Amino acid sequence: MKVAVYPGSFDPITFGHMDIAKRALKVFDRLIILINVHPNKEAMFTAKERKDMVEVTMKDYLDKIEVIIANDLTVDETKKLGATHMVRGLRAVTDFEYEFQLTHANRVLDSEIDSVYFMTDNKYSFLSSALVKEIGLFKGDLNKFVPTYVVEKMKEKLN
Ligand code: ADP
Repeated sequence: MKVAVYPGSFDPITFGHMDIAKRALKVFDRLIILINVHPNKEAMFTAKERKDMVEVTMKDYLDKIEVIIANDLTVDETKKLGATHMVRGLRAVTDFEYEFQLTHANRVLDSEIDSVYFMTDNKYSFLSSALVKEIGLFKGDLNKFVPTYVVEKMKEKLN
């Protein structure tokens, strides 16, 4: 049984995140989506709201996917959850430098946990949660970027 953790803020989950999760499921038997809580990064949604949005939008895959809110360092959580790998997504070369740092820092922290990267579908290569929030703030149409349930939750939040 190959288990991986997919850590991220998911504030909120986008079609880009979903694309990466589905690609990861072709390689791993189980995927644990880990909702990271950054104490010094302001989020639009609470960790519980983010978890709920991931569960609703990934409902067809919940036999293979579990969603957990992180309490510890990602590598420690990964080991604790019995996973061997961390999954991350790459959009463009601009992601590379940060992900390079992250992978090597994580390897120093725990050399047994490795990271694997999936490249998103080209049509999501510009998409980020930050962009979605910005478009939402100015009342733009979000339906091409996030599932309907997330569009509704964003509208509730922004009103
Ligand atoms: P973080 O705050 O840890 O970057 P995010 O939720 O923004 O959390 O992203 C989690 C992971 O998903 C990262 O590896 C990020 O590069 C990837 N990701 C986010 N959006 C996309 C997308 N549109 N296509 C592919 N990967 C993505």
